[in-house]
Order: sequence, then C-alpha cells, then structure tokens
Amino acid sequence: MSPIVKCPTCGKRVEWSEASKYRPFCSERCKTIDLGAWASDRYVVPADPAAEADESPSTETTPSKH
Ligand SMILES: [Zn+2]
Repeated sequence: MSPIVKCPTCGKRVEWSEASKYRPFCSERCKTIDLGAWASDRYVVPADPAAEADESPSTETTPSKH
C-alpha cells in the first residue's frame, strides 16, 4: 500500500508511488503551477503604497523655469 499525499496545488489526493510521476503533485500541470507561483513570488515586492507615501517626503516637483 502506498501512502496518500495531497497535491500542494489543488489538494487532490495523490498516491505516493512510482505511478505518480509528479508526486507530491497530482499532475505536471499542478507542479508547474506551484513552481511558477514560487518563482513569481520571489519577485513580488510587498510594497504598501500608503506606507511608501508616508515614509518618503512629499517633494513636489517644481518645474524649473528657464
Ligand atoms: Zn493537483
């Protein structure tokens, strides 16, 4: 008997065996989705627009007169 794991992406039950090629994912699709989410998460900067505006001094760009 093979242990049953849950697919991290969709939560589908996956049999942990040689038959489950993409374990712990249920399919190649779910594996790709998870890896893609992880990769994209690295580049996501949790920037809070309000906090950013609060920290930076409110410098109004005055157009230089020539
Ligand atoms: Zn899945």
